[in-house]
Amino acid sequence: MEERTVRLRNGAQMPRIGLGTWKSPAEVTKQAVQAAVRAGYRLIDCANDYDNEHVIGEALKELLDQGEVKREELFIQAKLWNSNHRPEHVRPDLEATLKDLQLDYVDSFVIHWPMAVPSSGQKVALRPDGCYPAHFSQGTLFPLDDEGYYASDDASHFIETWYAMEDLVDEGLTKSIGLSNFNMKQVREVLEKAKKHLPSVVQNESHPYLQERDFRAFCRINGIVFQAYSALGSADRPWRHTGSITSGAPSTGHEVLDHPILRDIAQRLGRSVAHVVLRWHLQIGGAAVCKSVTPSRIQENIKLWDFALAPEDMDQISNLNVGWRHLLWAETSMHNDYPFKDWLPSDYKLEKPSAGSTAGAK
Ligand code: NDP
Repeated sequence: MEERTVRLRNGAQMPRIGLGTWKSPAEVTKQAVQAAVRAGYRLIDCANDYDNEHVIGEALKELLDQGEVKREELFIQAKLWNSNHRPEHVRPDLEATLKDLQLDYVDSFVIHWPMAVPSSGQKVALRPDGCYPAHFSQGTLFPLDDEGYYASDDASHFIETWYAMEDLVDEGLTKSIGLSNFNMKQVREVLEKAKKHLPSVVQNESHPYLQERDFRAFCRINGIVFQAYSALGSADRPWRHTGSITSGAPSTGHEVLDHPILRDIAQRLGRSVAHVVLRWHLQIGGAAVCKSVTPSRIQENIKLWDFALAPEDMDQISNLNVGWRHLLWAETSMHNDYPFKDWLPSDYKLEKPSAGSTAGAK
């Protein structure tokens, strides 16, 4: 049976399955995190734009105070938001997260996206009340320009941001640093230009419809752990029903967890479809974060080490690799450092962002 953890380049053991918290409404996130830790999860994946880190902090404090888990047993990952890429904003961003999480350090801190966007004036942009796109003068995490398109900070580049991230390791505020939503070329640039610390983790979208085999191999060769996000296909992604290019229906016609082949395998094994998908992640040698706020699913999703998919099942899942990416965030594609240009239709015309929260149903 596969190992439950994977060794990072700093020597730390990172759990291969973690709890995701994007779209987890704050009012149920505390019970979700506590259910997860009690069920055996040790990795919690957080971000300031999920608007729930303060509740995760409450959950962790209670668990730690009650002795249900020790800090050193947990692996907490957080993310640097796009509006805080300027080197002088990197540390305040993490400090705000640490305050919300009620922790002294995180285990992994990753640059959430390669695109820098403006902070409000010279001030660092921290969590506003909600994560809505709004004019940049309002200090939002999702700043818009005067015409209502996403704004970019073209004078800032992720390599400068990386150097500030490296300092956070030396200061003990994070044990390791990594990248998220970077394409392979951008990861290579960081590998080549890093001065003190190389990326430990790349957290990118991956599931049976987007298997990222080349990218996974590239990471393995370079000592980086590829951690899949939206590991179950993110059926609760925002704007799923609006037909937006960012979140339209999968090209297969089925959400991942509804695919007939996966359902058949699950039925034959007497397991849930989520189990089958998560076993596939493990058996291809991967690490993954999956989100649920439903305690029964949270408990179920971690029970992965008492069964295995047969080679024929793995082959069938291999054939589902249709290259469907749900999180294109195409409305930011005018940015110089936008990572997924190759994935956009050639006739894509820049759109203004949809109104509404990106943090979840509000
Ligand atoms: P997932 O692929 O984890 O899917 C979440 C959905 O699956 C929810 O609707 C959840 O429902 C449902 N679900 C969970 N378990 C089961 C089950 N056993 N049976 C049926 N349905 C189930 O989606 P995410 O996009 O949230 O990805 C996971 C995590 O990855 C995020 O939460 C976040 O932490 C991270 N992420 C990072 C990104 C980045 O930019 N770096 C971007 C996207 C995700 P319910 O909650 O109602 O139980």
